[in-house]
Amino acid sequence: MKIKVFNEKCTGCGLCENICSLSHLGFVDRNCSAIKVKLDDLGESIHHPFLCRQCKNMKCLDGEDIIGDKIAGERQKFIWEQMDRVEKCPFNGCFGYNGKVYHCNLCEGEPQCVKVCTHGALQISE
Ligand code: SF4
Ligand code: SF4
Repeated sequence: MKIKVFNEKCTGCGLCENICSLSHLGFVDRNCSAIKVKLDDLGESIHHPFLCRQCKNMKCLDGEDIIGDKIAGERQKFIWEQMDRVEKCPFNGCFGYNGKVYHCNLCEGEPQCVKVCTHGALQISE
């Protein structure tokens, strides 16, 4: 499963960012969210939500001794401690804040951001 993004449908409301930290951590703080919406209020007003693409080949893990089942374990984590993964991800798919990296773990199969995005900018794709 992955979450597909449709930029043209995004209103920039920020609900996805808020529900992400709230559902995982119990408080609202966009800095602690695994989805970030880049707002474009001055250009074409096409906002751009960024989040993990759930790559088969996780470039974010390059250089680490992680193989086999351990890879699946990393996928399931919402918080990573390895700050360099932010730079290694080519897709701006995980986000560092205060020494922690926030990464989409798909909410155990029920992504909360997809539920709150009634505009259809975030959709589940198998
Ligand atoms: S909830 Fe949907 S419309 Fe609102 S900012 Fe997130 S992706 Fe965009
Ligand atoms: S963090 Fe980046 S490189 Fe790693 S799986 Fe997600 S999108 Fe791919």
